[in-house]
Amino acid sequence: MKLGSTRSGKSGKARFFAVLLLAVVIAFGAWYVFRVGPAPEINLVTERPAVGRSNGVTAVFSEPKLGLGTVRLELIQGDRTELLAEEVFAPGSGIPFVGSAGTAQAVLEATVGTDAMGWLVEGEVVLRATAERASGPFRSVAPVSVESTLPVRLRPPRLGVVSTQHYGRQGGSGAVVYRVGEHVVRSGVRAGQVESPGSPRPGGGSKDRFVFYSLPWNEANSAEIRLFAEDDAGNRAEQPFLDIFKAMPARTDIIRLSDAFFERVVPAIASQTPGFDASGSLLDQYLRINGDLRRAELDRVAELSRDSEPAFLWSGPFLQMPNSARAANFAETRSYLYEGREVDQQTHLGLDLASTARAPVPAPNSGRVVFAGWMSLYGNAVIIDHGYGLLSLCGHMSTVDVAAGDSVTKGDRLGTSGTTGLAGGDHLHLEVFVHGQSVDPIEWFDAKWIRDNLATKLEVPIQ
Ligand SMILES: [Zn+2]
Repeated sequence: MKLGSTRSGKSGKARFFAVLLLAVVIAFGAWYVFRVGPAPEINLVTERPAVGRSNGVTAVFSEPKLGLGTVRLELIQGDRTELLAEEVFAPGSGIPFVGSAGTAQAVLEATVGTDAMGWLVEGEVVLRATAERASGPFRSVAPVSVESTLPVRLRPPRLGVVSTQHYGRQGGSGAVVYRVGEHVVRSGVRAGQVESPGSPRPGGGSKDRFVFYSLPWNEANSAEIRLFAEDDAGNRAEQPFLDIFKAMPARTDIIRLSDAFFERVVPAIASQTPGFDASGSLLDQYLRINGDLRRAELDRVAELSRDSEPAFLWSGPFLQMPNSARAANFAETRSYLYEGREVDQQTHLGLDLASTARAPVPAPNSGRVVFAGWMSLYGNAVIIDHGYGLLSLCGHMSTVDVAAGDSVTKGDRLGTSGTTGLAGGDHLHLEVFVHGQSVDPIEWFDAKWIRDNLATKLEVPIQ
C-alpha cells in the first residue's frame, strides 16, 4: 500500500510534467506561428522638399526581431501608381538563439521627377513606402506604410531685376537688386562657374534680394554672367542683367627666380606649414608653394566668406596704405623664369603696395577680424570680414597686432608690412574678395565707383 501509493504519486507527478511540457510546446508553437512581431520602422526622406525635374528619394526599413518581408516604394499621382522599387526577402526561422535571422534592414532608393516621368503634372504627389513583416505559415504580413505628400513644381521660379544701370568690368564687382517668387531657396549672380549668393534686401519686402557679385578675372564672356534663382524643387530661372560689360586687357609680368630667393623663402614657409611635402629640390618645393598652397589658401578664404556677417560692417571707400606705390597689379599673369627657362605660371591677384620697410598697415575698412596668423605664401596675414561676403586680406606682414574676433575701424593699425611668405621685398599684399572670389581692389578704393555702382541701387554706408 505504502509502495503502491508511492508509485501512483510518482506517475501522477510524471503525468503532470508531461501535460505541462505539452502545454509549453503548444504555447510556444502557437506563439511561433501566430506572432506577427513588432511593426517595421520606415524612414522616408527626399533630397528636396518638392518635386521638379529630379528629386532623390531614400526609404530605410528596419525590423530587427523577425525581419522584413517585401519592401516597396511607390509614387502616386491621381489614379496612377508607379512602382519605383521593390525587394522581397526570404523570412528567417525566427526561433530564438538557434534559428536563422531574417533581413533586419533594407534601403530602397529612387529618383522622381519629370526627367524620368514625363507624365507628372503640377499639383501634388504622394510617396509611399511599404514594409511587410517576414511571412510564416500562420503569420500575418500586416504591412506598414509611411506616406509623404510633396508639391510638384514644373515652372522656373519668378525672377525680376529691380535695380538699373549695371556696368561691369571683368575682374570687378557690382551690386544688383532683384525680386524672386515664392519657394526660392537660392539666388544670386552666376558668372561662369562662380556663384555670388544673394541676401534679403535690408528694409525690403520678403521677396526683395540683393547681392554683391564678383565678375571673375578669368571670365570674359558676358553671356555667362546672369542673375539666377532656384526653387525648392530645383527649377532654375536665369536672366542677363548687365547693361555694359568691359573685358579686362591681359596683364603679364616676368618673375626671375634665384637660389638665393628660394633659400630665404622656401624653408621658412615649409617649417611653418604643417603637412608640407618638403621633398625634392628647393625649386620643386617652391612650385608646390606657388601652386598647391596658393589654391589651398584661396579655398580657406572662400570658406571664411561663407560665414560672412549679413550686415554692412564697412563704410565709405577702402583705404590704400598711405604713401604707397603699386608694385603689382590685379590679375597679372606671371611667368616664372629659373636659370633661363619658364618653370611656372600663376596669376597674381590683389595689389602689391610698397612703402617704407615695416610701414604701419591700416585696416582697409571697418569690420571683424576673422583670421590673423600664418598663411603660407601670404606669410603673416590678416583677413577682415566687411559683411555680405566682402572680405579683405593683408599679407606679407612682419608683425600682426590684431587677433581673430577683434572688431576694427577703418584705419586701425593691423601691424607692419614685411617680407614674410613669398615676397621679394618689403610690401603689403592687399586682396579684396567678394563671396570668396578675388576682385580688383581699385574699385573699392574709389568713392565715385561706390556711389555710382552700389549706392544707386541700395542703401550702403557711403560716408
Ligand atoms: Zn602680392
